[in-house]
Amino acid sequence: MTHSTRNRFIASLAVALLLGAAAWNCARAGEKPRTRVLLIGVDAGEWDVLGPLLDAGRCPNFARMRDQGSAGKLRSLEPLTKSPIIWASIATGKVPRKHGILDFFVKQRAQERSRARAAKAPGEEESPATSNLWRARTIWQILGGLGRTVGVVGWWTTWPAQPVNGLLVSDYVQYDLGSWPRKDSRRTYPDSLDATVERLRRTPESVSWAEIFQFVPAIDTTNVTPKQEELVRNLKWVYAADMTFYRVAMELYRQRHPDFFTVYFRGVDEISHLYWDIDLPGYSNPPLTDAEMAWIRHLIPNYYVFTDRLLGNFLKEAGKDTDVIVCSDHGFMGGGKGVMAHKLDGMIFMMGPHVVKGGSISGATVLDIAPTILAIYGLPTARDMDGRPIPGGLDPGIVKRVERETRLETYETARAPGQSEEPLRSPVDEELRERLRSLGYIQ
Ligand SMILES: [Zn+2]
Repeated sequence: MTHSTRNRFIASLAVALLLGAAAWNCARAGEKPRTRVLLIGVDAGEWDVLGPLLDAGRCPNFARMRDQGSAGKLRSLEPLTKSPIIWASIATGKVPRKHGILDFFVKQRAQERSRARAAKAPGEEESPATSNLWRARTIWQILGGLGRTVGVVGWWTTWPAQPVNGLLVSDYVQYDLGSWPRKDSRRTYPDSLDATVERLRRTPESVSWAEIFQFVPAIDTTNVTPKQEELVRNLKWVYAADMTFYRVAMELYRQRHPDFFTVYFRGVDEISHLYWDIDLPGYSNPPLTDAEMAWIRHLIPNYYVFTDRLLGNFLKEAGKDTDVIVCSDHGFMGGGKGVMAHKLDGMIFMMGPHVVKGGSISGATVLDIAPTILAIYGLPTARDMDGRPIPGGLDPGIVKRVERETRLETYETARAPGQSEEPLRSPVDEELRERLRSLGYIQ
């Protein structure tokens, strides 16, 4: 540790201890219940889809968060970029060059690259980005370091699962393990959670027609055409992944109720990429018939309704003493492949004891989520963060107090020496690549 990092670390620690002591005294005096935060990520959540569903009364849980809390637009990173990069900014409050997650994939070092070339697998010269590449601390690491218990489920770039003060279930639990020995998978922290995941995991093959009929009108299942099968094939893996995250997150949240809990759902983004442009020429070859088009026309809004139902179950479990934040990393507008289909403005909903009732949020960005969560715990925004607590959503008294009281340089601590800067390989790399390809993010 260099002299200046050590000083910086000691300064951070002193502030943290002071704040910890304040929280402790407060709890002991019985002034306030324990602060709890639940953060739910909905990738590509878009107001143009959700707004009409709110008006029609079809998303009552989002509506409740808007009416009893605050809601508005959440600006993404500019220029538009890929989801893992933005979610890392949401988790750290920092721009990409500071947090270090810069793409879905990372180039292998020269030795690995020549091995891939020799194996005639040029695509494999790049590996999915892995959790050892983060260069900034996440909100769950900061809170965990201050003695708060945490739970994290489904987030991008969290494999291999790193130790936290609680539990972490990486996004790789959605993929098929194949011949990967389960005891070495490092899909969860602690490793013992892997058995829970295995029990609760949904596979695409297990998705029933009854479940599919949440999204498309029911058809005679004894007479399904190959085209109908094909139209819902991708829906099955998207839905299975979200259900896996939901079932695992809900069981763990119920059991543990950690101080901070977060779960991430990727389905809305994937469903939007897969089904938004059904009207455009070239969507399908041969083109969809009117009947086929009519069959899948409401799949996207119906997926929002499904997501609203998951949200409702979490709200029930959270109770009124928990601050709940739901946000997306960007919006969606279709009309292109990959990030070209994204829109800069996403959405944010907040509700809970530290949130303004009936508030309207404007001017907030994805960089503000981590500082906002810190503020709920009475913790300052560090000077090396790029966001700030969200005004218009948070109680203004909290925002003022946090801004006035503390000047904290950083929450970072020195990095462990010798930590690898190379992505780690995993047996699910090819499945992950295949899914990103089907969404148009890669060739
Ligand atoms: Zn996204």
